[in-house]
Amino acid sequence: MATIDGLVIKDAVKVERIGVHSHIRGLGLNDRLEPAQTADGMVGQLAARQAAGFIVKMIQEGKIAGRALLITGEPGTGKTAIAMAISKALGSDTPFVSITASEVFSTEINKTESLTQAFRRAIGIQIKEETEVLEGEVVALEIDRPASGVGPKVGRLTMRTTDMETIYDLGSKMVDACIREHIVAGDVVQVDKASGRVTRIGRAFTRSHDYDAMGPQVKFVQCPDGEIQKRRETVHTVCLHDVDVINSRTQGYVALFSGDTGEIKAEVRDQINKKVLEWREEGKARFVPGVLFIDEAHMLDIECFSFLNRAIEGELSPLLIMATNRLISKVRGTDIESAHGMPSDLLDRMLIIQAEGYTSEEISRILRIRADEEGVKIDSKALELLTKLANSTSMRYCIQLISVAEVLRQRSRKESVTTEEIGKAYKMFYDSKRSEKFLTDSFIQ
Ligand code: ATP
Repeated sequence: MATIDGLVIKDAVKVERIGVHSHIRGLGLNDRLEPAQTADGMVGQLAARQAAGFIVKMIQEGKIAGRALLITGEPGTGKTAIAMAISKALGSDTPFVSITASEVFSTEINKTESLTQAFRRAIGIQIKEETEVLEGEVVALEIDRPASGVGPKVGRLTMRTTDMETIYDLGSKMVDACIREHIVAGDVVQVDKASGRVTRIGRAFTRSHDYDAMGPQVKFVQCPDGEIQKRRETVHTVCLHDVDVINSRTQGYVALFSGDTGEIKAEVRDQINKKVLEWREEGKARFVPGVLFIDEAHMLDIECFSFLNRAIEGELSPLLIMATNRLISKVRGTDIESAHGMPSDLLDRMLIIQAEGYTSEEISRILRIRADEEGVKIDSKALELLTKLANSTSMRYCIQLISVAEVLRQRSRKESVTTEEIGKAYKMFYDSKRSEKFLTDSFIQ
């Protein structure tokens, strides 16, 4: 956590890590945007991947403002996978936020606030902060413990470079860091004053007589020349929503962990927008518009669609990607029938990609990639069976069976997953079709 110009920011953990898509590294296109049959963890869907590659190019050339993307196709045809691949192709720092439309209605906040929060979670800001870093050999570390044994500790750190020695006063945070890191005289350390982080780089070069005693694994480094203090630019990557939450008086950063952020006042957001735009002007910050993916988009209602229509025009909008498997259906909240259950004015502004169904060979490849990703060894007969099951159930279900079958394999101490483990896993856990049939049969009796 850091405070810049009175605004509190916090490093974001890379937004969203969706386990089932972790094998996807990009769109698998060459320089001419042509897709390979299998590349970057993506299999097939050649036309959709190529179209997605054009979208990425347009974004990189700044030509897609005010537009959004719609991916249509049956369940399990890789709509989320394509959205994920777009965000990966845009760069590893690009935030990817994935929600289902029904979530917008299930929270305690109103639906447009919920969408606003999702939009702002998908906008990254990289903020540069200048910090002071001390680097040198530790000559002495003295710690004053309070007589009562409670209360903050303070101390002094004497550090030496090749030609000077300096004493620094340490606050309790840095004292704790030194204790935690077991810092002793002779260590060469880096001390980041802003974060209070202490990193041992090695042992001082000059103390090479210690070498035998400490063993060959100890790294000896030369103390830096001259100046002990260095200026270093740290880059914090945060998302705009986290900045909103932390700086909202009623929320505070605790809300970030509970996820219970409530509504954020418009004034707070206005202030934050003003500040971060100022930082951008001054070259202190850079915006990283990410990808907001909304699955089951036909579940949104007319108010949500109107909101999205306006929001994608905003200066700070992420790329909006929606997905649906609906054909012609009613726009929720109206009596109007429309393609994909979406109003025609919004559809007009969208680029639409169709995800096709998979051949058995493609399913088999995807399942193989997933097994590799999870470190599961699966024999060819078992993969064949799994592919057949995926045709009659779903790809997602079969991806889950891989993990279950692996647990069964470990218990039976086999070399690799065989048809036996797949069969047992299939009997153990129902897919949605069998579950539905079970319920229907029970109901009829
Ligand atoms: P739904 O409509 O149910 O939300 P979907 O169309 O979004 O489904 P995904 O969730 O993307 O489908 O796909 C199911 C699983 O198969 C995921 O683990 C996904 O990563 C993987 N997958 C789908 N298509 C591909 C592909 N072309 N290449 C690699 N993996 C894929």
